[in-house]
Amino acid sequence: MASRLRPVLAPALRILSRTAATRVSSAAAISARRSLSLKSFFTSRKPATSDPFTSQFEPVLEQADLFHPLSKSPLAPVRAKADWIATHGTCPVCKEQHAAEEHQEEAKKTKSKPPTYECPDCGYPTHCSEEHYKMDKEHHKHVCGILREVNEDEHDLRSGRRMKEFEFPGAQHRDEAVNLSNWDTFLYTRGFLSMNSERSMRHVSHVLTYPLTIGSVLHQSSPYQLGKDLTVEGLKSLAALRHTLHPAMIPGITQNQDLRSTATHTVRIFCLGARAESHLPPHIYMQLAYLFPTTAFQIHFVGPDAIPPHTKSKEPHQHVHYEQMTFVYDNSRYEAYHAEAGPFNPYYDVFFLFSPGLAHPSTKDMWKPTIPLLLDTKCAIFGTGFDERDVMNDVAEIENAGYELDWLMKPRENVFRSLKHEINMTDVRQSAQCNWGIWGIRGRRYDVRPSDQ
Ligand SMILES: [Zn+2]
Ligand SMILES: [Zn+2]
Repeated sequence: MASRLRPVLAPALRILSRTAATRVSSAAAISARRSLSLKSFFTSRKPATSDPFTSQFEPVLEQADLFHPLSKSPLAPVRAKADWIATHGTCPVCKEQHAAEEHQEEAKKTKSKPPTYECPDCGYPTHCSEEHYKMDKEHHKHVCGILREVNEDEHDLRSGRRMKEFEFPGAQHRDEAVNLSNWDTFLYTRGFLSMNSERSMRHVSHVLTYPLTIGSVLHQSSPYQLGKDLTVEGLKSLAALRHTLHPAMIPGITQNQDLRSTATHTVRIFCLGARAESHLPPHIYMQLAYLFPTTAFQIHFVGPDAIPPHTKSKEPHQHVHYEQMTFVYDNSRYEAYHAEAGPFNPYYDVFFLFSPGLAHPSTKDMWKPTIPLLLDTKCAIFGTGFDERDVMNDVAEIENAGYELDWLMKPRENVFRSLKHEINMTDVRQSAQCNWGIWGIRGRRYDVRPSDQ
């Protein structure tokens, strides 16, 4: 049943990721390494004054009090979510019945009713009635645990407690090696505090999945290895980028120098079709920069939804400078941007497409002129998807197009995916994880050599 229902997941989750992005973008005036107030992170800048819970900063929920049926939550945004699901959601039993009556005339069909009954175990509106809930309980129990987790996580994020896990560490010491084998080793070796619960891990991985997905691919201590995940072509492409990213191997830079002041190489990361990734505050991307202390970065977010965080400006092209990073936000069509940003160099430039939906009916055509341009640059191109189906659809789309390309990384699970599940509100049986899977390609070439820059 699950696989038959999968196709509807894609559009709903694409919308969902935009909603999530909007929430993160409202993270007003968060400065680096300051204690982050959760309110500023996830709620609107203009609290609804009629609701006492959105306009105060003291803890409103204790840790033992994080589970609430959505419609009875003390938090207005959670109650609004219950309303939304009860209006636009699906009762799976009604849906099955409706599908079974497909051949009947419209007038004779059973009317599908929206889910207004809340499961007592996860608190989500899952069925139209207790009767349908009981009929379907065997199926529901497969997703009930995830829904319960999401319910409690959401209440925790808005509980008003001090979110110590968002107090990120600054630059690392020269002698400290970062272990990028997985989230645990990364957070531990980088000295993240208070990462002692799975819930904290879910919160932090959700925010850091974009910079860490990039960092874990590019870094010389990458968890992706030749033979297992990387092809020979993949290693060649990454070796070119690492030559620029780890210039400590170049004589002349000593351990005593302030490495950031010696940043002489600028690596450009192009995030195309950017949405949520462009709305993250710049200090979140510093966690990428700290992995490469001698490198200056330009991160180019390109696409109609590429908007800097905390801005009221509607300018289609904006820059933000932050320590060794420059962020560029541009709403042009990629074809136009490409002409401006070129020439490209595989030693300095890399492309990331986060959940691009290359095969998705609503976005497929938009990508058609873009992919050949990217392949032409001979720079590495990495893409992600929010579940296995999404990744494999994109991969099939690339393979069927008959491009001249080499695979750099075969599609696989992303070590630095978000551990948080995002629920499809139109059908709560479905969930996905941001940057769940990853793959890499490059236009076919026969030689890689640095140009004179
Ligand atoms: Zn029903
Ligand atoms: Zn449940």
